[in-house]
Amino acid sequence: MSTGTHGGRAKCLQRLVRLDMPVPLTVALPFTTVHQIAQGNLPDVDAILAEFGEYPLLTVRPSSEDPDWGGPGAILNVGMNDALHGLLAERIGQEAADALYLRFILAYAIHVERIDPEAFDLPESYDRAAIDRALEIYLEETDTDFPQTPAKQLAEVLKSMARAWEGTTARLLRQAKGAPADAGLGLVVQDMALGLGAAESGAGVIQFVDSTTGEPQITGRYLSQSQGRDALGQGAGAIYLTRDARGPSLEDLAPACFETLLDYGVLCRKRLREEMQIEFTIESGTLHILDAVRVQRSSRAALRIAVALAEDGMIPKEEAILRIAPRALTELLHRQVDPRGPRDAILRGIAASPGAATGRIVFTSNAAQAAAARDENCILVRHETSPEDIRGMHASVGVVTERGGMTSHAAVIARGLGLPCVVGVQGLTLSSRRKELIVADGRRFSEGDVVTVDGATGEVLAGAADLLEPALGDAFQTFMGWADQLRDIGIRANADTPADALMARTFMAQGIGLCRTEHMFFEEDRLTLMREVIFANGVPARAAALERLLPLQRADFTALFRTMQGLPVCIRLFDPPLHEFLPGDREGMREMAEAMDLPLADVARRVELLSEVNPMLGMRGVRLGVTFPEIYDMQARAIFEATIEASRDGDPVVPEIMIPLVSAKREVEMVRANVEAVAAAVRAERGVSFDYKLGVMVETPRAALRADEIAQHAAFLSFGTNDLTQMTYGLSRDDAGRFMSEYVRQGVFAEDPFHVLDFDGVGELLTIGATRARQTRPEIVLSMCGEHGGNAESIAFCRDAGFDYVSCSPFRVPVARLAAAQLALTQPRRGAPVANL
Ligand code: PEP
Ligand code: MG
Repeated sequence: MSTGTHGGRAKCLQRLVRLDMPVPLTVALPFTTVHQIAQGNLPDVDAILAEFGEYPLLTVRPSSEDPDWGGPGAILNVGMNDALHGLLAERIGQEAADALYLRFILAYAIHVERIDPEAFDLPESYDRAAIDRALEIYLEETDTDFPQTPAKQLAEVLKSMARAWEGTTARLLRQAKGAPADAGLGLVVQDMALGLGAAESGAGVIQFVDSTTGEPQITGRYLSQSQGRDALGQGAGAIYLTRDARGPSLEDLAPACFETLLDYGVLCRKRLREEMQIEFTIESGTLHILDAVRVQRSSRAALRIAVALAEDGMIPKEEAILRIAPRALTELLHRQVDPRGPRDAILRGIAASPGAATGRIVFTSNAAQAAAARDENCILVRHETSPEDIRGMHASVGVVTERGGMTSHAAVIARGLGLPCVVGVQGLTLSSRRKELIVADGRRFSEGDVVTVDGATGEVLAGAADLLEPALGDAFQTFMGWADQLRDIGIRANADTPADALMARTFMAQGIGLCRTEHMFFEEDRLTLMREVIFANGVPARAAALERLLPLQRADFTALFRTMQGLPVCIRLFDPPLHEFLPGDREGMREMAEAMDLPLADVARRVELLSEVNPMLGMRGVRLGVTFPEIYDMQARAIFEATIEASRDGDPVVPEIMIPLVSAKREVEMVRANVEAVAAAVRAERGVSFDYKLGVMVETPRAALRADEIAQHAAFLSFGTNDLTQMTYGLSRDDAGRFMSEYVRQGVFAEDPFHVLDFDGVGELLTIGATRARQTRPEIVLSMCGEHGGNAESIAFCRDAGFDYVSCSPFRVPVARLAAAQLALTQPRRGAPVANL
């Protein structure tokens, strides 16, 4: 018998029997038999019944391969008829026997004969009169007497369950949960263990860990007949399992059964290698085990359970690693909406940055800052965010934007700041002026109203939802340590500030794979400085602005190197899409004019002059560096001076400098010549020598195609898949959100390519780039640093393409470490890395 032939429930019951647990007599029908039943070919029902004695009383339960695929509901008390009713009345009392019979008549009529439940207008009491009335109604509705032979009853129950499984609705429902079209159903026919009797009797479930935390804890419920449970299983309420001052417990009422259940919990851990929830009945003091299922668990509980099982030697570490889906880790790293609490979703969009936060709605950055000054948590809601909103984002605990996609401004910044964020929200009418938003169902929310952003699901909930704190305790650390022992591809973090770097270290990244230096100027007091550089009209003005930038950059880099303590740090030279730094509205221009002490008209004119129709494809990256070489020169100097500084009190730092948005070899040659000159100058001035590595970001299709010649000048190539996706598709990162969900919904794209790497198209460019680069320079180090870097599918791709490492935002580092470990366990690596991981 296997799960694939008889279903999970049947297989589990077989195991419980083998463990000598008192499982009532059970007959399991395989998928093939049930399929035949659905076609009208019944098995030998009499032979089945013969197993259960003269007066069988049975349950029939579904047993699908995966319990999540659902199945028809169990039918209890099959075999109940006039004769057994009389016998049972003597054994368990008239009232209980009446209730059981009535219950079966109703279940059979409704689920097998498909009679409308409304037809049964029965008296309140469950007695003989009610039974007679139910039998009468049955006769009226079906023109036949209620079947009295167990054989007829069982045959009809089996047929109805088998057919229900093969019905179209049931099939579609389970296919939506991942079941194959031909998924089979097994059926389990089991002796009823009633949980009714003279001495202590009742029914319950017990488990030995908490489903939310995974901590050891006895939980469940027990309904005792002696404590008010009636024969229909409805009672005054569950009573406690363990000894409790609030009332009698299972431990008091049936201490021996309780002890045995605890032993069974241990047995399940040892032999089934799982935390199981056990369903049981007690019949006059005798324990029966009806079923056991894997304990339902949150992600944090799943990890805690896997680590505990491995630490106790029940499963190997490798299996613990394979039991946790990498994505599930995200839930542990952030606050999370407690799945046990109520949720009132008012908005849905793209889940752009994980975590959950509750706060009052604000519609402007100023309001956000004012709220922060009052120590009030706020959620910033905008059409989209622009540079002016950085301060507001810093002051908020969560961000919601109407427009935008996975790599829009709001999404990238929120991920960097670790703020939960939902973008591209549908059905939202937003009026910042009236300080009001209206959601799809017509409800209105004003500034100051409390909402919760659920960045894990991409929803905004009305009110303050219950939140769970991050779970980065011992179990998490142990688990990640095991993952690191197994994986064979490097994992670095995209980290822009010393605070990010600290986060990267907390999550044990092996270095920084991308420091977006322009992001170092997103802090409110620094934005103006960066703007001055962009704004400078003429060489002297720019030189003056750069002179002020130099010490800040030097200090930033020194702090980064020190935080990373000898781990590699890859610094990308400025790549500021101009619209992310220029003010977007009049208010912003006014503020800028004030900060730069310029007339508003001058600012407006200059902004207009610098504005680009397509800023994402405009004066960015190396184009800025070639046009205004003094900008990159300043950065190179800051990096080298910081290198000397940080090497003074630690191991020598070897910085990695990366040139963004390259499309031609000549760009690299020019920047390289300048950087070399700066290095030589700094060495001469300081009388100190140092090494560095110069590399190129491959993020335009042309750079990928010409990687062979670009590699001549690069010690490493890092594939920027955000831009590469944008440019391969000809699809602006900032505008993708406008139609992406529609595209995915209609199946034009299987997934948002900014979210899941497009292996066919963008992937081919990566492979071409990697192959051509290694033809020129076999030892060239290859990596990926776009937003895709952290997900399992991209990591698999990078391993096969021979990449050395991937780099992703700090909070995704644990996800990437686990995904990489699982790949190492399940798929031999095809492409060999060159770097020493
Ligand atoms: C990229 O384009 O993939 C990348 C990492 O750089 P950015 O997102 O800063 O453009
Ligand atoms: Mg880029």
